[in-house]
Amino acid sequence: MDSEELKIATERLKNFSQKKEFLIAIDSDGCVFDSMNPKQIVAFHPKIMEFYELWGIESYLREVAEFVNLFSRTRGCNRFIALRHIYRFLGERPEVKEAMMEQGIPLPDTTMLDTYVEEYKDISLGNPTLEEYVQKKAKSSLESSLSQLLAWSKAVNLTIANKINNIPPFDYVRESLSLASQRADLVVVSQTPYEALDREWRQHNLDSYVTAIAGQEMGKKEEHIRIAAQKRYPSNKILMIGDAPGDKRAADANEALFYPIIPGRETESWKRLAKEGLLKFFKGTFAGDYQEAILVEFNQALPSKPPWQEPGYSHQVSYKEREPLRKAMYERFDPQGRLLVMEGE
Ligand SMILES: [Mg+2]
Repeated sequence: MDSEELKIATERLKNFSQKKEFLIAIDSDGCVFDSMNPKQIVAFHPKIMEFYELWGIESYLREVAEFVNLFSRTRGCNRFIALRHIYRFLGERPEVKEAMMEQGIPLPDTTMLDTYVEEYKDISLGNPTLEEYVQKKAKSSLESSLSQLLAWSKAVNLTIANKINNIPPFDYVRESLSLASQRADLVVVSQTPYEALDREWRQHNLDSYVTAIAGQEMGKKEEHIRIAAQKRYPSNKILMIGDAPGDKRAADANEALFYPIIPGRETESWKRLAKEGLLKFFKGTFAGDYQEAILVEFNQALPSKPPWQEPGYSHQVSYKEREPLRKAMYERFDPQGRLLVMEGE
């Protein structure tokens, strides 16, 4: 994609023209497209085990990493921050420590990861700044572990590019967008690069429903909404649709309403939006009890307390609970890939 196309897309957002009474902002990854599950399960998590020789604790690593990246309040957080959470959780669990001791595998030293995150968290955490940091620390004692971190991050991107593509939207997305666009102007708000968004929305013929697509180059999601709304739509006529707490925060920053696509129940969520949520939004009965009730459901689906800290926890039960999802992702995106399937009921 050339910069000219990006410039045009940015202009399209800035010149967003109001044609309808309502505004609906929609997140893309993990919300419209089922892209979070395969990216995490088939790329991020196995690459951690590959690069840090942690296959010996696969069931624990997958359980912890899925909790951090997919099924808790930190869903959708930056990959380097996620890594810190994962190692912290693993290090806290006595049963994991025991398993590692038995097999003689150490937990990676996170000093370099911690310093990188601390130094760059307010700038940007991503391969370009990590690369810069590696150069800066060349010939220091941190160099090799930083290079390994960068190699992991690049390998993740490569795996995603090679294995995970042409992901269709969830069921009922098209129906919802079609219905939504009858009375609302639609805008995509996302932290994914614009080029990928443009391609994915076009590929599935969803682009015709939206007025503009805003990607990571055009600022944060809350800014995207602000630019599109430009104080023209009253806040009770703005709805954000998203799948992560960060999306809810973007809605709050604009005092907009929020409809959650609940992780693990995405199809059901889109169906409910088409059959019920949109009608309430257009009728002006979305705010209040309905908004509160669906937020309770959303918050319950994304707990902050991990399952292994709950009473009566069983690792086997917890691991097996997500087994159908893991198997489905591997069958579809990496049939030859390595995946532990637990025996027994
Ligand atoms: Mg998302």
